[in-house]
Amino acid sequence: MAISIAFIGLGNMGGPMAANLVKSGYGVRGFDLSPESREAAAATGIAVASSAAEAVAEADAVVTMLPAGRHVLAVWQELTAAVKPGTLLIDCSTIDVDSARQAHVLAKEAGCLSLDAPVSGGTVGAAGATLTFMVGGDKDAFARGEAILQAMGKRIVHCGDAGAGQAAKICNNMILGITMAGVCEAFVLGEKLGLSHQALFDVASTSSGQCWSLTTYCPVPGPVPTSPANNGYKPGFAAALMLKDLKLSQEAAVAAGATTEMGAHAAKLYEKFSDGGHGGEDFSGLINFLRENA
Ligand code: NAD
Repeated sequence: MAISIAFIGLGNMGGPMAANLVKSGYGVRGFDLSPESREAAAATGIAVASSAAEAVAEADAVVTMLPAGRHVLAVWQELTAAVKPGTLLIDCSTIDVDSARQAHVLAKEAGCLSLDAPVSGGTVGAAGATLTFMVGGDKDAFARGEAILQAMGKRIVHCGDAGAGQAAKICNNMILGITMAGVCEAFVLGEKLGLSHQALFDVASTSSGQCWSLTTYCPVPGPVPTSPANNGYKPGFAAALMLKDLKLSQEAAVAAGATTEMGAHAAKLYEKFSDGGHGGEDFSGLINFLRENA
């Protein structure tokens, strides 16, 4: 019998992810608070339910893709009261590690298996089923969830027990936020010193300054034609989402007693950039903020 999946949160990421489950042959029943998202999901073959509880009632597995920890906990409270015992619950949202662990506890109390499985790859990866999943949870849950995640992504990494997926996600994105800020600063300094963008790129991309923020996502137009800088800093990865992830890393650092001064500074820079009305721009647009505030 075909595996039946409930999908709650059919927004920019969840909509195309759920559509890829349908393409892989799963029966998908979905729910979202937004009528527009429900309508778009119905057009991709998802059976739309009138509530999260209704969507999950007959499901073998449930996937949630929601904005933040409070949404995930509220929805998991509702769905753990409505699912069959033994159902696998997977949260793919990017949320704080504490809420992720609380969600695992809710699942356990309801007799369910659970995974935290945040993603990287953005809306392009969601549409193309090329996401990377960073997964936390026990081996039995991972063994059951892996095939479902494979239908939505190309790289599935089991990072450890409950919360390990979220921990990997915020550590990775803290590196990303810091390296992008560093690359932006280097280009602004190079400009002041009369160095061309291409010359700095040619040296740093083949030297010890090499990193993803430079070679894939170069914040100046020219050296990497596919980077958002060549497209008016249209996201890509919006500055507001980078700020969200940096804030999550800083909350986790305080709670865990880790010193992350570079991460804290990057969070402050993105906060100023985002609060200045640029939250919807690609995060590499930080370079314009640094130039203006030089
Ligand atoms: P989105 O705002 O487009 O989608 C979230 C959806 O959740 C919305 O459609 C909203 O109506 C729905 N929702 C909220 N509360 C609900 C509830 N109680 N019941 C049912 N539906 C509810 O956001 P998104 O871009 O799809 O992001 C989702 C998650 O993925 C976030 O945690 C985000 O940080 C993460 N993420 C996003 C990207 C990206 O590029 N957009 C990349 C990686 C990770």
